[in-house]
This record gives sequence, C-alpha cells and structure tokens, in this order.
Amino acid sequence: MNRVGDAKILDGSALAKTIRSEVAEGVARLLAGGGRPPGLAAILVGDHPASAIYVGSKARAAEAAGFNHRTVRFDADTSERELERAIDELNEDDAIDGILVQLPLPDSLRMRPILDRLDPAKDVDGLHAVNTGRLWLSQPGLFPATPIGIVELLDRSQLELEGKRAVIVGRSHLVGKPLAALLLERQATVTLCHSRTRDLQSVTREADLLVAAVGKLALIGPDFVKQGAVVIDVGIHRITEVSEVERLFPGNAARRAAFERNGSVVAGDVDFDRVAPRCSAITPVPGGIGPLTVAMLLANTLTASQRRQGKGGE
Ligand code: NAP
Repeated sequence: MNRVGDAKILDGSALAKTIRSEVAEGVARLLAGGGRPPGLAAILVGDHPASAIYVGSKARAAEAAGFNHRTVRFDADTSERELERAIDELNEDDAIDGILVQLPLPDSLRMRPILDRLDPAKDVDGLHAVNTGRLWLSQPGLFPATPIGIVELLDRSQLELEGKRAVIVGRSHLVGKPLAALLLERQATVTLCHSRTRDLQSVTREADLLVAAVGKLALIGPDFVKQGAVVIDVGIHRITEVSEVERLFPGNAARRAAFERNGSVVAGDVDFDRVAPRCSAITPVPGGIGPLTVAMLLANTLTASQRRQGKGGE
C-alpha cells in the first residue's frame, strides 16, 4: 500500500480493477448457467461534451465486462413525452437490465418525472424515488454508484465504521444523502453539512471519517481535519492554470510534470498535499473515488440482471 507520511493512500483505481474483473466473472457465471449477458442502455440528451465523454467511457467499460450496451441519443429540444416513450420501450425490453439517464438534462426537461419513469428494477443509477425509499428503509434495491463505491472502499480497506463520527460535506441526491444512509447502516454517527452549515471547520474537525462531496476545489484544508482522520475526496476539478498547480501542489514535481504533459491536472475538494500528512488514510484525486463509480455502476447492472434473470443478485 502507498503512503504519504503516516497516511495510507486508498487506491480506488486498483479496487475498481478488482471489481470490474469480479463483474466479468459474474457475467461468465450467468452465461454458464444458461443466462444471457446483462444489457445496459444509456440515454443521452443533447450534445454536452462532458456527458458524451462519460457515456462513452461507461459504454466501453460495459462492453469490456461482457455486457450488451446501447446508447439512445436525443436532440436537446426533445420533449419529455418523447423521452418517456423511449424509457417505456426500454422498460419493456427484456434484454435490457439497466437504464441510465445521463445528467444533467437540458433545462427544458424536468429530471424527476423522467427518473421516476424508469422501472425501479432497471434503475442502475439508483435515483428513482422507490430506490431512495428502499435505501432509507434498509431494503434491497439499487443505490447510487458513488456512495456504494465509497463504502466498498472503506469495507475492503478494513476501516471500521461502527460508533465512528462520520461527517459528509455536501447533501446531493447523488452522493451526500445516499452516503449518509449507507454509513448509518454501518453504525456510524453521521452529520451532513451543506452551504448553510455554520462554522463548517468546527464540525469537520470532529470527524473520524470526513467525506468531501462539495464541488469546490481544495475547500477542505488541514484546519478542517482532525489528526488521524480518514478522508474521502469525491470532488473532481480540472486545473488549467499553472499558478493554481503551484498554489495547490508547491514543489510537487509529479503534478508539475503531469501538467506539462497534459496541459491540465485533476484535483479534488480536498487540499491533498496539505491534508494528507494529518490523515490515517486518504483517497487521491485522480485514482480514488472516480474509477470506483464506473465499477459500481457495472456491479449494479450485473445485480439487476441476475435478479431479473432469477439467478441470484440478492
Ligand atoms: P452538488 O449537487 O453540486 O452538491 C454540492 C453540495 O455541496 C451541496 O449540498 C451544497 O450545499 C454543498 N456546498 C457547496 N458549497 C459549500 C460550502 N462552501 N460549504 C459547505 N457545503 C457546500 O454536487 P455533487 O453532485 O454531490 O458533486 C460534488 C463533487 O463531486 C463535484 O466536484 C462533482 O464533480 C464530484 N462528483 C464526483 C463523482 C465521482 O465519481 N468521483 C461523482 C459525483 C460527483 P447546498 O445543498 O446547501 O447547496
């Protein structure tokens, strides 16, 4: 295991690779048992470049795991009615086990009715109201990939959560809120912080486990972190200014070289170089939670497929 000082670096890329090969083994077992490959369909509305990149990388990962994959594309001016009809068809299609609606949708479309149109058994992003309810009721369902990836990383790193104080900064439906439910399940005492939280530092400094899912570059500095805490960084930011690289990573030759090579570097919500020396364990950006998100989406789709084919997936 890599370390920075006393801090273990929690390697999300390595775990993602393990999970992806476990998923491929699961697909092989499905086929050996007379089943069919899992089928994943992505709905992409408009031509948002980042969304197209995300859908492309999920498609490649799905195909590498042995899934059938389909991307259903719509123009940005598509009506809700058209989108609902496409979702109804995918809901009815027996060869499709998972349906993703790539977010964000154009402003003209309401996200909630579209997400709630999905068959909850095919909602592999875990964003349908029924799956949200099941999560909070501790019932089996399909739950968002990023928070289940975080819990998988903590579990497989043998980081005990029972009785620990967990503080999550960010209360989105995608990350903060579902993660709170999952950490409660693991017997942590959970606090959710947000933009109206007063004296954020005094709350985060209580945390044995601190999760940053804020969307603010390097917001979490060393003064936010208790000595010996475990820190999970969900944020993803692309830095394109050399002055920013020097401010955040002074004297860090590897980051500087990456910047020279690519014209940018990726960093998180945590000021990694200053925070890592205070931690017992920390996730890097890149190579932490990002790769786990795609791996857990594949795991969700395999689970949905196993359940729909009556071949496990409890
Ligand atoms: P989001 O929907 O924008 O939510 C951000 C949350 O942070 C909100 O709850 C907001 O509070 C809170 N917040 C904003 N500024 C704050 C401040 N100064 N102090 C305290 N709280 C503050 O973001 P998200 O979708 O959860 O994503 C968060 C970050 O994770 C982004 O950088 C995103 O790119 C990244 N992300 C990464 C992955 C991955 O695979 N690694 C997956 C999803 C997201 P309010 O609720 O009060 O507005």
